[in-house]
Amino acid sequence: MASVSKGKEAGKDKIAELARRRGFLWSAFEIYGGASGFYDYGPLGALLKRKVEEVWRDFYSREGFYEIETTNIGPRRVFEASGHLGSFTDRAVVCKHCKSFFRVDEGVDVSEPCPECGGELEEAGEFNLMFQTRIGVPKGEIEGRAQKKSEGYLRPETAQGIFLNFQRLLRFNRDKLPFGIIQIGKAYRNEISPRKSLIRLREFTLAEAEVFVGSREKNNHPRFGEVKDKKLRLIPREEGGEGEKEKEKTIGDAVRTGIIANEYLGYHIAKVEEFLDAIGIPMDKLRFRQHHREEMAHYARDCWDAEFFSERYGWVEIAGMADRGDYDLSAHASHSNTDMIVHLQPQVQGEADKDKVKVKTKIIPHVIEPSYGIDRIIYALLESAFYEEQVGKEKRNVLRFKNEITPIRAAVFPLINRDELKKRARQMFQKLRDEGILVEYDDSGSIGRRYRRQDEIGTPYCVTIDYETLENDTVTVRERDTMKQVRVPVAEVKATMILSGG
Ligand SMILES: [Zn+2]
Repeated sequence: MASVSKGKEAGKDKIAELARRRGFLWSAFEIYGGASGFYDYGPLGALLKRKVEEVWRDFYSREGFYEIETTNIGPRRVFEASGHLGSFTDRAVVCKHCKSFFRVDEGVDVSEPCPECGGELEEAGEFNLMFQTRIGVPKGEIEGRAQKKSEGYLRPETAQGIFLNFQRLLRFNRDKLPFGIIQIGKAYRNEISPRKSLIRLREFTLAEAEVFVGSREKNNHPRFGEVKDKKLRLIPREEGGEGEKEKEKTIGDAVRTGIIANEYLGYHIAKVEEFLDAIGIPMDKLRFRQHHREEMAHYARDCWDAEFFSERYGWVEIAGMADRGDYDLSAHASHSNTDMIVHLQPQVQGEADKDKVKVKTKIIPHVIEPSYGIDRIIYALLESAFYEEQVGKEKRNVLRFKNEITPIRAAVFPLINRDELKKRARQMFQKLRDEGILVEYDDSGSIGRRYRRQDEIGTPYCVTIDYETLENDTVTVRERDTMKQVRVPVAEVKATMILSGG
């Protein structure tokens, strides 16, 4: 991380250093000097990210939602309709002295000195955040129509791909509301000055759910009762300010008093917390902040951020929950001349209704959207799992990941470097891998050093093969957090790890 950042963020960041050294996270294009806002996941980072995504998929699959996969590139017309071409902009200032650009927010304003060199800043205008590209080869380099036809953009969110397929998705759902669709994929924003590791990227992964529901049904979620007593730290819009005025409220109260717009939004805010808890985001570092009206995206009617308190960056949005109303479907309906309408079946209200003419109601559904920034969540997990501890005379770094997301499940060691122990340890390593458990084998250095290496990447169990193993088929299993060792029969090793979650 430090190789693309300067000044106060450089140097002594232990998490960034660990993430780089142990293969979680690398600056992209490093051998060419790097580029701000782009990171690659190394082997352990890719495993961690995949685990988080698997838990997420499973979580929304239990809501009955299906996943689709749509394109990363879209033609100009899509983003004209979605409003991103017109409204998806950030204001920038530029330093007169060092020519650095900065996004206007988070403390940087034209009246402030340049954060890089202290020079004077000036307005640089509004910049659209979408990456532009070209679809196919335009005939010659003709300006105007031909040019516009070939103009493409990298998607700034995955949601649009779901909206564009609405008619087909509705038919897939047998023409009934409500239903939910999820998508995980890359999204792209050409940020003006990304300087914060995984927090502000130009290419990043979003996990989004779009829930289509009739506007009249928004206040009647069938499973609202399951979440209504859940207490959340909320910062409603009216209170404003930075942090001090948060309230603890139940979801039920927040919806009843109109702080949260409706039951569907309330239900999905509760689900966001449940998911973040399940993967190990500490609940005492999480709050939900409502957007001010001027801060809301162009499509939003009500919008909340799930914010994580980072020791390094302060409060950081890691998920957003928006009521997008019928903005997107209406916009695509009028721009594409396509019906985005649902014909609701009439409700039969008993005998008296029976002979009345049954008229179908036509509506454009509303959309409730929980949207997760997976890379920011990965950063939050790394930061909150990291501990530096004194063990006797030594220090150890440990990542206390939950078992559900830890990249490596266990490590297998021979106690000492003897062929008969190595052979037995190799056998166990292969057997566990064959059974689908991701284990590592390590026979280099002292046993203490091998424990430290595994602690540092968050491996919850270390299994050691010794001479007793050869006699009575037992091994020692050492647990990461407590560092306690227990002797267990080889036959129970797998169960020891499986039963402990994940
Ligand atoms: Zn400057």
